[in-house]
Amino acid sequence: MIYEDQSMSGIRTQAPAISEDTIKRLKEAVGPSGWSTDAEALDAHTVDWLGQFRGPSPLLMKPATTEEVAAIVSICAQTGTQIVPQGGNTSLMGGSVPFGTGNEIVINLSRMNKVRSVDPFNDTITVDAGCILASVQAEAEKIGRLFPLRLGAEGSCQIGGNIATNAGGTNVLRYGNTRDLVLGLEVVLSDGRVWNGLRGLRKDNTGYDLKQLFIGSEGTLGIITGAVLKLSPLPASVATAICAVSSLDAAVELLAYCKDRAGDLITAFELLPRTGIELVLKHFPVTRFPLAEIHDWHVLLELSSGANDSELARMMEELLTESFEADLVLDAAVAASGEQSKAFWLLREGLAEADVLEGASIHCDVAVPLSAIARFLQEATDEVERVCGGVRVVAFGHAGDGNIHFGIVQPVDSSAESFRAREHEISELVHGVAHRFHGTISAEHGLGRLKRDALRTYRDEVELDLMAAVKRTFDPSNIMNPGKLVNVGDDPRLPCFGDVA
Ligand code: FAD
Repeated sequence: MIYEDQSMSGIRTQAPAISEDTIKRLKEAVGPSGWSTDAEALDAHTVDWLGQFRGPSPLLMKPATTEEVAAIVSICAQTGTQIVPQGGNTSLMGGSVPFGTGNEIVINLSRMNKVRSVDPFNDTITVDAGCILASVQAEAEKIGRLFPLRLGAEGSCQIGGNIATNAGGTNVLRYGNTRDLVLGLEVVLSDGRVWNGLRGLRKDNTGYDLKQLFIGSEGTLGIITGAVLKLSPLPASVATAICAVSSLDAAVELLAYCKDRAGDLITAFELLPRTGIELVLKHFPVTRFPLAEIHDWHVLLELSSGANDSELARMMEELLTESFEADLVLDAAVAASGEQSKAFWLLREGLAEADVLEGASIHCDVAVPLSAIARFLQEATDEVERVCGGVRVVAFGHAGDGNIHFGIVQPVDSSAESFRAREHEISELVHGVAHRFHGTISAEHGLGRLKRDALRTYRDEVELDLMAAVKRTFDPSNIMNPGKLVNVGDDPRLPCFGDVA
């Protein structure tokens, strides 16, 4: 189902179009390279990565500097024009595209892609928010440092988008979420003023830590235009293995065992199910599975260290041998080269797309305590299969953080449309099970538009009140990505947060 030109509740109303005068002023603020009304360009920026949400907009802005962003936002503040900040548009929550009310412009940061400075002594890099994540990683490597944020969309997502969503990815176990990697921010506020918080400090107890409010705010509080990012030492050696585990409980035991033995040398602990691997091998012919047979569950385990190769390789071998003897691991393959390690990762990265290629699919990004992973997966699978026979559950992901991407692919014999129509019902089942296990309905993808209203079920009034108060304080006119994450306005197209006044 494509949600087009309407809120999730299905309410349609007439939108006040942006006036010609406002459009003229916005264009003048950035010059000819900074805007587009070209239908094709607009089309690419008004549909989300999954093709699930489409919301037309009359104007795409591509500012090149913080000053230009500030000028645009000032005009929007004066005219009540609503803004959808956009990075690489890889959001899986519909957060980066308009509703299509006619009063929204898209501000895409791709032209703000410069590295402002690098400080190898302070282990920091200061970048424009529109820098692609992979290019930030590459810049850090040039000075022998690691920017450890790593995720499947790293070739197209932007650092501003990563910060706005507090992105997680595969290295969280060792280095934390994006929140842990940001030391300072520059943000254009909803009235057009610029907050310069570009500090590269690891200790700074001077009042409220404002940057933390913007991290994970999904464009609803301001536009992030620059960031100071924390770098880590580049590992001297990396050991990657794919292990078949005897059960889900064994996978969790294996993690605990690895933590005891290898401590923070563990950089990744990713869960790969049989269903997912079969789809990856089917849809990505370049991929190869390294074990003799595909088992029900596997773990992609990665260790990294500043020490030399042989020590890390020995540790990996010992870990696997002992886990095999303890009946946790049934079979394992260790990458013999960097190329092989990449090939193992292709299997993991392919999981994020394979179910999309297979047909209509529903994606739930949940997290539960590590001790509950096995029971959560069993109950969620049972419940989904009970209400929708024939579905294929593809549950994979960052098991080391308790974060499961619970994907559900349509039954072979059903239509994509009829399956999509049940998205809410089926997602809510999975969310309900995660909640019963004291988990969360969004581990790392945020709320965007897709999960905004679900939050009301899973957070109490006090928390919802506080979120609404933060939104109103930073964005009293409700022009910053309205209707995403939290809904505080009185616009009937973007229904309100229930009884929050
Ligand atoms: P966009 O999609 O453009 O925007 C996301 C949100 O941030 C929107 O609400 C937008 O308004 C806001 N925003 C964007 N830029 C700014 C800015 N400069 N200032 C203020 N607000 C802004 N996510 C994970 O956490 N972990 C994963 O492992 C992961 N894997 C993925 C794999 C694939 C194949 C895909 C397609 C997505 C994956 N994602 C993952 C989701 C997505 O990549 C992340 O949420 C990413 O951080 C979004 O960055 P972006 O630049 O594409 O932001």
